Amino acid sequence: MIILDGKTFAKEIKENVKSKVEKLEKKPALSCIIVEGDSASEIYVVNKQKACAECGLISKMIRLTHNVSQAELEQNIELLNADEDVSAILLQLPIPKNLDTDRAINKISPEKDVDCLTFSNAGRLFSGKNRIAPCTPTGIIKLLEKYNVQIAGKLAVVVGRSELVGKPVAMLLEQKNATVILCHSKTGDERLKELTRMADILIVAVGKPKFITAEHVKQGAVVVDVGINRVDGKIYGDVDFESVKNICSMITPVPGGVGPLTVACLMENTYLLATDEKEI
Ligand code: NDP
Repeated sequence: MIILDGKTFAKEIKENVKSKVEKLEKKPALSCIIVEGDSASEIYVVNKQKACAECGLISKMIRLTHNVSQAELEQNIELLNADEDVSAILLQLPIPKNLDTDRAINKISPEKDVDCLTFSNAGRLFSGKNRIAPCTPTGIIKLLEKYNVQIAGKLAVVVGRSELVGKPVAMLLEQKNATVILCHSKTGDERLKELTRMADILIVAVGKPKFITAEHVKQGAVVVDVGINRVDGKIYGDVDFESVKNICSMITPVPGGVGPLTVACLMENTYLLATDEKEI
């Protein structure tokens, strides 16, 4: 069994971005907006700031208080849209429930939408006309390709249909000519097991610790665990690594799998939005 080492690959990606950024006169800038109140998000934005520093990118953090109004949030986004020094904008999710996530996301200028979440960019992704793709799904595809996992002609099963992970990764897999099945909470436990056991490539983004066990996995499958679940101060994936590792041919660890790649791909996307390059 091979461990898909996202951590090492992420370093490689960031080194590459750094060397490209060094050649630019004007350094690309990523602006992360965080609405205070979600402890995991606080960790993620610090990691993103660190990665910007590693890659020579400018990081501009906009911190808003928990009781920020929708209008204030949108004003902040509009200021960043108009700021010529900002090349990429990321609204750290989730935001408090009283705020309208879709409205806020769609205030981001599509040219600066670094996680490709605005409706116009999601539409481009849907029709295969996207310039960049959401960071986590991009990282997943890159990792599979890094380890020479054949995608074309394979059956990929994605568990979870979020706008951020499940749906876009399903689209990217389909763009790469996999046959894709997208499962969700209404799939039903027995049906889910039947489907996941057919998967050559199994991508899990559910948000439930150790949700996928040995009985969900086909012998020799490639398993990508997107989950980051904090339980008593420890981080667990959505896959029960210990039970699955003896069945699959490749698996991502948590931590050290998809997480670091998400951040590395955010750096890449920031670079791409600041330049007219198509890929890095
Ligand atoms: P969401 O909560 O937005 O989506 C979860 C999905 O799982 C939903 O589509 C839901 O279905 C589905 N689901 C829930 N229960 C079941 C079930 N019993 N059977 C099948 N499907 C089920 O989560 P995200 O996609 O945002 O995140 C998923 C996980 O990935 C989380 O742990 C998150 O922390 C992590 N994550 C990690 C990242 C990384 O960089 N590694 C980046 C982003 C997220 P339904 O739509 O029907 O409700």
